[in-house]
Amino acid sequence: MASTLLENVQHYFDRAADKLGLDETTRKALSEPDRLVVVKLPMRVNGELKVFQGYRVQHNNARGPYKGGLRYHPSVELDEVTALAALMTWKCSLLNIPYGGAKGGIACEPWALSQEELETLSRLYIRALMPNIGPLVDVPAPDVNTDEKIMGWMVDEASTIAGRSMAPLLTGKPIALGGSLGRRESTGFGVAVVALAALKKLGIDKTKATAAVQGFGKVGCWAAMRLHKEGVKVVAVSDISGGLYRKEGLDIKALYDYVQTSPRHLIAGYEEPGIQAISNEELLTLDVDVVIPAALENQIDETVAKKMRCKIVSEGANGPTTPEGDAVLESRGIIAIPDILANAGGVTVSYFEWVQNLQGLAWSFDEVISKLDTMMVSCLNEVWDLADELKTNLRTAGFVLAIKRVLEAMKLRSGVLK
Ligand code: GLU
Repeated sequence: MASTLLENVQHYFDRAADKLGLDETTRKALSEPDRLVVVKLPMRVNGELKVFQGYRVQHNNARGPYKGGLRYHPSVELDEVTALAALMTWKCSLLNIPYGGAKGGIACEPWALSQEELETLSRLYIRALMPNIGPLVDVPAPDVNTDEKIMGWMVDEASTIAGRSMAPLLTGKPIALGGSLGRRESTGFGVAVVALAALKKLGIDKTKATAAVQGFGKVGCWAAMRLHKEGVKVVAVSDISGGLYRKEGLDIKALYDYVQTSPRHLIAGYEEPGIQAISNEELLTLDVDVVIPAALENQIDETVAKKMRCKIVSEGANGPTTPEGDAVLESRGIIAIPDILANAGGVTVSYFEWVQNLQGLAWSFDEVISKLDTMMVSCLNEVWDLADELKTNLRTAGFVLAIKRVLEAMKLRSGVLK
């Protein structure tokens, strides 16, 4: 049976903990979540009473307030949310931003709900969570199937309850409600920027490079847009409606314009001369320089990894590579830029948004993106050097750096850990 995301995250954690020579109890103190919050959300759907289950896992706050997104998906359950919360702890630590890690979500099919029902559910959720969150306690944000609009409803609900502005409670808000310019693009841009930096390290000219992007949603679309703008030929993209391949490169800007008005914002039906349909596995195993998995978990397993022909994988999704897949990539010399680094652009600009809210500032788009690029590239360089030093891959080096920082903070906060 395939391993769960929680087992995979624990595996990556343990590999790094081995390098650090950590004992069992220290591992437990670092990897177990601080607090699990499960809330009941009863509401009427089409007149019928339904009870939804909501979650918030607060994994670790040694370095600052808990931080992480909210996911609306039928697969949301406690173990998955716990794994994603742990990834947030390591991600924020790796980027050296002053946050801990958390994740939340609601087990639901958001596409089966009306806008009014979605709004009610989002308000119920944030209301139920209010005793456990706060701008200096735990700061939620968007994740899979949640967006600016949902953050807007939530900030309104929280502000109404508190009787004052709660803008810094949530990030990824609409600009008009205190959101940051560049937040929308940030995750995808970050994924692209670290891939570009890795190409440079390998001595590959970006204007001669090719890429394939799995997923054309909030992450994949902006990763493709940034690569395209930087002169990389994006030859393939896919989403749940299928995949598109064009040897000469796709016109990503035209595709972006197309999905703004296409049914459910999917790429199906997009046309360009010479375009061909391609399957998910064909996309991942194309002979390109960069592959960006920006869909859901466990896409690159052992079988897929054995067939992959790219030089660099930049992980847009959380947990797209299984431990077996990761081992194959490493043995085949394919560089995997791990999720906790590659997709950290989102939480980095969430941090910028929170800083702006707390100080009453509004930075320009260029200011945000240039700060983001600098942080992403310097983090990649740091992890790359550590991987060379430890003779390991970027994922293990990233976890080592992230765990070290959290452990240091935990030791400074309490004498219990030695
Ligand atoms: N959901 C995003 C992630 O997995 C962003 C989290 C945030 O901005 O807090 O990194």
